[in-house]
Amino acid sequence: MTLMIPFDNTYAALPGQFYSKLPPQPVKAPRLVAFNEDLARVLGLTPGGTAEMAEVFGGNRVPEGADPLAQLYAGHQFGTYNPQLGDGRAILLGETAGTDGKRRDIQLKGSGRTPYSRGGDGRAWLGPVLREYVVSEAMHALGIPTTRALAAVETGETVWREGGLPGAVLTRVAASHLRVGTFQIFAARGDKASLRQLTDYAIARHYPEAEGPMGLLSAVRDAQSELIAAWMGVGFIHGVMNTDNFSISGETIDYGPCAFMDIYHPHTVFSSIDRGRRYAYANQPAIAVWNLAQLATALIQQMDDPQECVEAATEIVHAMPALTEAAWLRRFRAKLGITTAQEGDLELITSLLGLMAENQSDFTNTFRALAEGSARGQFTDPAAFDSWAEGWQARLEGEPDPHAVMRGANPAFIPRNHRIEEMIASAAAGDYALFHRLNAVLAKPFDDQPDHADLQRPPKPEEVVQATFCGT
Ligand code: AMP
Ligand code: MG
Repeated sequence: MTLMIPFDNTYAALPGQFYSKLPPQPVKAPRLVAFNEDLARVLGLTPGGTAEMAEVFGGNRVPEGADPLAQLYAGHQFGTYNPQLGDGRAILLGETAGTDGKRRDIQLKGSGRTPYSRGGDGRAWLGPVLREYVVSEAMHALGIPTTRALAAVETGETVWREGGLPGAVLTRVAASHLRVGTFQIFAARGDKASLRQLTDYAIARHYPEAEGPMGLLSAVRDAQSELIAAWMGVGFIHGVMNTDNFSISGETIDYGPCAFMDIYHPHTVFSSIDRGRRYAYANQPAIAVWNLAQLATALIQQMDDPQECVEAATEIVHAMPALTEAAWLRRFRAKLGITTAQEGDLELITSLLGLMAENQSDFTNTFRALAEGSARGQFTDPAAFDSWAEGWQARLEGEPDPHAVMRGANPAFIPRNHRIEEMIASAAAGDYALFHRLNAVLAKPFDDQPDHADLQRPPKPEEVVQATFCGT
């Protein structure tokens, strides 16, 4: 079979100020190490032979119908505006319309230098490529909006970081790669025409029912409120919620130093570069509001008189915390087996979380154990849990099937950091068994899989991952 990707490109048809057209840079010896057949089907892609797919997804051959380009954007990184970022190590090959009617970008990440590479080499090493592959696919299986992974290719080249590391390219699939930063760059330049064009494009592509820039702002707010609540519900910490990593579509994007919490604590941070703890677990809802405010600031620049929109934009942004909290409450109620709303629910949830933090409870296993009636074992002070559980049991009266609700809301399996690190180390040594096992198990995160109970185990003290690093 020959690889066939039914490209249908719209971004490449926009005028030239939004991107630079160039092909991916070839690599020495591409070898296909992962290919996502389920996703390929959704894209309407006909897989080809392994060697051919290695050539295409390694960047050595531009497939028919592709119109490769690097996208331009800017962004606030840790609160500081960087006037020019852009795809410094990624190439958008093009889009497919999707067998499910959803348009998606197909992008190579780690595909060589572009005009936006600044000091970087345009490459990625195998570790972050496999991490993003496993974690983004796990997020998808958890039902959380996310970019996905179509393929991973080892390049046969060495990438230099602290030392020499095996190079790799990830093929990332996204609803689009439009970010807050895509709007910010044109706003900062005072380019109203480009902002208007981009706004129309984003509305047509993601929110056809939205009206004008304020309609777009509201739609992004709603999508991101749901997304952040979903992250909170599984103990996910993004790690780099810069405005260039905050998507317009409401998907999780850019799996750099991201991590799932083991022990619950609201202040948890993993990213080695997040020294101010800006992107700590519990800060994520507030940071999302801050990012939305940056989008609002950019969007109003397209108006003839931006001042006229300030009030409307402020109102939209200010409504976000309540929306995120409502989505958060809905999710955490379900995590306790509750399907209706009552006063006191917030208190019930936060008091459990408080106990979990005090008792150093494992976030995932504690919630999963609630359904099985074995949660007290997750607390160093089981009596404290017992007294909380009395109120909880009383609240569950009249709930038809809390057990089923909890099993559907509390995954048994998440990609634990120490397993991801172990997987990267073994893959770098040529053994992909754990990579494939993780993908298979994490595809069904709500199922009991007794043969893989080892993947539910929290890290032993010596296995705890203290810090995660960006994919650069
Ligand atoms: P990130 O932290 O991955 O969101 O990247 C922030 C910016 O740095 C983006 O413009 C990336 O394209 C760029 N970048 C990251 N790593 C590299 C690299 N190895 N080479 C060139 N540009 C990079
Ligand atoms: Mg990024």
